[in-house]
Amino acid sequence: MASVGIRDVRKAFGSTQVIHGVNIDINDGEFVILVGPSGCGKSTLLRMIAGLENISGGDIRIGDRVVNDVPPKERDIAMVFQNYALYPHMTVADNMAFSMKLRGAPKSEIEARVNKAAGILGLEKLLDRYPRQLSGGQRQRVAMGRAIVRDPQVFLFDEPLSNLDAKLRVQMRTEIKELHQRLKTTTVYVTHDQIEAMTMADKIVVMHDGIVEQMGAPLELYDRPANLFVAGFIGSPA
Ligand code: ADP
Ligand code: MG
Repeated sequence: MASVGIRDVRKAFGSTQVIHGVNIDINDGEFVILVGPSGCGKSTLLRMIAGLENISGGDIRIGDRVVNDVPPKERDIAMVFQNYALYPHMTVADNMAFSMKLRGAPKSEIEARVNKAAGILGLEKLLDRYPRQLSGGQRQRVAMGRAIVRDPQVFLFDEPLSNLDAKLRVQMRTEIKELHQRLKTTTVYVTHDQIEAMTMADKIVVMHDGIVEQMGAPLELYDRPANLFVAGFIGSPA
């Protein structure tokens, strides 16, 4: 686990500034949700934490290390995307083991970690299956399994549930929260769904056009929205 510090972070694509000096403190073990309308810069910010986008200004810290110039592979993070493409030609076990294999971990350690992650996610009986033989929810669990196996300091989720149907989405919210309660891994979770934010977050960061409008505990935002944007966004149905 590690805290994450985002200090005056800016991002421009060409001459277009999309993130304008954002400051966010994420505590060790905290489950923080970045929420806001489509195009407000959530994914860009998450990708900068992951090192998948360069930052145009400011600092990003993971633990006690400023990671601005650290390549993604050397940041101790694991990311789960909306389009969590599993490798179709690999079994569930191999999908989960793959990144550890790339890192040259010993076979026995990989096996132990895959089995542990499978146990946590209820995937024990599916380890020999291929992705095409799984339901949407099972695939999503495998995608999370790949992240858990790495045992990173920080989980980054980018709208991981948005491809699932409504019923499964609600079930997976609970599963992800239970997972967090169990592992206590610092998590930054992006969604445009205010219900997801209100029900899952320790702390919500409301973004709008590349700035942070407000951050705080769900009830704090609900009871005392800082402005009309937050009031409208948090108060309106998904
Ligand atoms: P969100 O995830 O909140 O929907 P994004 O972070 O994907 O928003 O995008 C924020 C803004 O940055 C949008 O205006 C988007 O068009 C722009 N943007 C994102 N990625 C790129 C890119 N690679 N090149 C140019 N503009 C981009
Ligand atoms: Mg996005």
